[in-house]
Amino acid sequence: MLVLGVAGLGLAVVLFVGGGPLLHAASAFAAGAALLWCAHALRVRDSLIHDLTAERIVLQASRQQIDSVSRAKSDFIANISHEIRTPLAGVLGTTALLAETPLNDEQRAYLTAIRGAAEGLMALLGDILDMSKIEAGHLTFERSPFDLRKLAEDVIGMFGYVTRDKGLVLRLTYAEGAARVFFGDPLRIRQVLTNLVSNAVKFTAAGEVRIEIRVGPTLHDEATVELRVQDTGIGITAEQLPRIFDSFVQADASTTRRFGGTGLGLAICRALVRGMGGSLDVESLPGSGSTFTAAVPLTVASEHDLSEAPGASVTGMRRLKIVLADDNRINRTVVLALLERAGHTVIPVENGLAAVAAVEDHRPDIVFMDCQMPIMDGYEATTRLRETGCTVPIIALTANARADDRDRCLAAGMTDYLTKPIRPEDLHLALQRHAIAPTPPEPASDSASAAQ
Ligand code: ADP
Repeated sequence: MLVLGVAGLGLAVVLFVGGGPLLHAASAFAAGAALLWCAHALRVRDSLIHDLTAERIVLQASRQQIDSVSRAKSDFIANISHEIRTPLAGVLGTTALLAETPLNDEQRAYLTAIRGAAEGLMALLGDILDMSKIEAGHLTFERSPFDLRKLAEDVIGMFGYVTRDKGLVLRLTYAEGAARVFFGDPLRIRQVLTNLVSNAVKFTAAGEVRIEIRVGPTLHDEATVELRVQDTGIGITAEQLPRIFDSFVQADASTTRRFGGTGLGLAICRALVRGMGGSLDVESLPGSGSTFTAAVPLTVASEHDLSEAPGASVTGMRRLKIVLADDNRINRTVVLALLERAGHTVIPVENGLAAVAAVEDHRPDIVFMDCQMPIMDGYEATTRLRETGCTVPIIALTANARADDRDRCLAAGMTDYLTKPIRPEDLHLALQRHAIAPTPPEPASDSASAAQ
């Protein structure tokens, strides 16, 4: 094109100088100039494309670098939390056992302080781990059937002792006739509700904390479920309101001193709710109280879906035969004592190979299986048991808290997963879910359970 352009201009000059027709010379000049301009434009375009490609390569390289740094940070946090969780397992478990022995008032007060500090540390570890997952974009959600009303009742049950101490009324309202079984991520929904109720209880000195669950109209099996947590506490000022969902933000500087906390809870809740396709909002008046509303779209499920699912909601308690595999003596002693104290028969073993033999010999109702053990680890032991057709529920006991550890446990054939430190409530829930005989579900009705 460049050559043609130059030729065009040359021809124009020849025609002009040679006295050719002026119109022909002008045409040749115009054509030559246009061709030269096009050649220039193409050169500019090529150089732009070249620049853009180079920039894209640089951007891709930077993104890969950022991703790998973020993965490294995420792994580092998970590893550190693992290292801290393991000794904490011992502290919390032994504290739980000590609390059940005869103690004088002074000793009990010290013990309560130890347990409070250790639980605070655990909660902080959990929050930091969640935040790092959110930041790394690693948040994933389960889809399993669960009973929403039962979940809310469980959450209320967790706060019974605090609200009794503070003289608060804790109330659950579930609309009569509304669907109660849904497909969704029960653990995440529980986490959000627990956090909102925990804040409401923390920031309310007198009056009531009310959980209200509303189920919107169902369209193509989808319904928006509203979880409202209303309190009569200190409230939040209009200036503070827009900031409380930011990480590490507390309404005012004195909050940490007076109530503790890290300012991560609401940021995590909002990220979780948004990850489920919903929204989390707040209305509040200082001195009158706050109302937090999480609206989450869920798929309506049936009681049948629930009973088909492994780990379906169950009630009641019976004595169980349990195989407990853990190579760590302290952890084994702690869990064994908790289970025996609840009236169960426990067969303790120190490695996966012994666990396989114990399951074959004793035909237990449930197995608690540590993952990392010498001779044979928990994953291999589980795979072996499943290969022989064994269907007993196997619950992983592990200090690893990353999502891929959970996936690894389930892929090996484990039924569920408990993260150390194992608390009595965790064990009790796992037993209820996986080993106690299911009872027919109660008919849905309006409920107002007060924990006081
Ligand atoms: P944390 O409670 O750990 O400080 P959150 O992210 O859960 O962190 O809450 C952030 C801040 O929002 C709290 O420090 C508090 O100032 C305010 N807040 C949250 N819930 C309530 C509530 N129910 N009543 C009054 N203030 C609240």
